[in-house]
Amino acid sequence: MAKDFLAGVRDSYDIVVIGSGLAGLTGANVLAKAGYSVLLLEHHYQLGGMATWFKRRGGHIFDISLHGFPHGMIKSCRKYWTQEIADKIVQLKGIRFENPQFSLETTFNREDFTRLLIEKFQVEPQAVNDFFDTARSMNFYDDQSMTTRELFNKFFPGRDDVVRLLMEPITYANGSTLDDPAITYGIVFSNFMSKGVYTFQGGTDALVLQMKDEMIRNGVDLRIRSLVEKIEVDKDRNVTGVVVNGKRIGCRAVLSNSNIKSTILKMVGEDKFDSDFVEETKAVRVNNSSCQVYFGLKPGVGFDYCGDLLFHSEHRGFDIDAMLSKDVSSRTFSFYYPETRPGSDRWLIVSSTNARYEDWANLSEEQYEKDKQDLCDTTIDCLEQYVPDIREKLDWVEAATPRTFKYYTRHMHGASFGTKFEGLKVSQTLPHQIHGLHHAGSVGIIMSGWLGAVNYGVIVANEVDKYLTPKEATV
Ligand SMILES: Cc1cc2nc3c(=O)[nH]c(=O)nc-3n(C[C@H](O)[C@H](O)[C@H](O)COP(=O)(O)OP(=O)(O)OC[C@H]3O[C@@H](n4cnc5c(N)ncnc54)[C@H](O)[C@@H]3O)c2cc1C
Repeated sequence: MAKDFLAGVRDSYDIVVIGSGLAGLTGANVLAKAGYSVLLLEHHYQLGGMATWFKRRGGHIFDISLHGFPHGMIKSCRKYWTQEIADKIVQLKGIRFENPQFSLETTFNREDFTRLLIEKFQVEPQAVNDFFDTARSMNFYDDQSMTTRELFNKFFPGRDDVVRLLMEPITYANGSTLDDPAITYGIVFSNFMSKGVYTFQGGTDALVLQMKDEMIRNGVDLRIRSLVEKIEVDKDRNVTGVVVNGKRIGCRAVLSNSNIKSTILKMVGEDKFDSDFVEETKAVRVNNSSCQVYFGLKPGVGFDYCGDLLFHSEHRGFDIDAMLSKDVSSRTFSFYYPETRPGSDRWLIVSSTNARYEDWANLSEEQYEKDKQDLCDTTIDCLEQYVPDIREKLDWVEAATPRTFKYYTRHMHGASFGTKFEGLKVSQTLPHQIHGLHHAGSVGIIMSGWLGAVNYGVIVANEVDKYLTPKEATV
């Protein structure tokens, strides 16, 4: 008989959290700690959403999105998770750029970027300082009409090499382009520049396992392989429950960590919302998707130091179309040394490229397999310049495409980084439409990535708390 993943589940909870991405996990943990009964439902067989990993024959463990996040994760993990988790966050110091315009290595913080911009790129110190100060002072309530392109034109006119240095890593980190609002760039870039790039030592599996233990300690009822099909709403527009794996479970509030558009248009349904809100939701643009190639080396076999993150490109200037093209000319390599998982004897490499869902969605199975193989082959060709004897060292090679990301996370178009900026307003105003329905997850560029997702999970958990326990009632 098929296993019942909902065995023993209660008839109702204070809150149902749909999805176990970092925003869902953090929201569930904060709410359970506050004393609410919380049910977390995840359709996949493991927790974490994009913050995930997979194992392959021969003892390989590949991380999907553990490439780098800002220093702020330490504080967020300490406050909303555990000291033990925060203590495992360590800096990555070797960020490399290799392209036709420059070759350099940096610690990716303000001090080192200032030095590079002045000494290597010969930019006036005043312009560099003014740029950093402007970027750092940007916040959500600022003018949203200025684009990132205009921001760069203001400080570094005609300098496509400088734009490339400043923009390329952020595009890889959250899919943003020169046409997105400058505040999204300023906020994310400044988060990184404050102290550099960080990672979780021990791997995503260790992190998510520790999060799981903490949630169990706090009383979250966790269920995997549990697909929420419907969010139930009564005639007065109050959330009353969900339908998961065909079963109804009641609740006072829902925190959806599922894609914002699917939450509104599919799980609730258009007829439950004001028509202009439906139109606003439909107009939200999802962000781009990704391709990755995972390389596992033979046990104990390594390579000379290549840096931690390497932004490789054969293209001149910053060109978003080239970065998204299936004809790949730009790749980010993440080099994982045995220290990533202390005690391991494995060197691993993951190549990531931004990609368009449309380029992969409608291929025949035969063409799809052929194109994936081609992606693996061309990536090895490229990698050879950094790890010359890579072919003899390889034990496992495998590719993921936008189809893979869609399949595992159910994001529309396999979006890797949620939505463009306008998605944030829809996410934030969702509870004005339906009482008790909240969303936390990658939206609006600034609320995506590991840090954005964790912090947005906390912000929205506080909103759910306010909704369930209004201030007057607690006096
Ligand atoms: C290739 C790649 C590389 C990345 N690299 C980095 C990086 O280096 N640094 C960084 O900070 N960020 C990175 N990111 C982005 C980062 O991983 C994400 O922004 C973040 O993890 C998203 O968290 P989230 O809370 O929005 O939820 P998601 O991770 O999107 O998870 C949503 C969860 O909801 C579940 N779900 C959806 N619908 C349902 C349903 N109906 N029922 C039940 N469950 C459902 C999904 O299965 C999923 O588990 C990367 C992303 C990708 C794809």
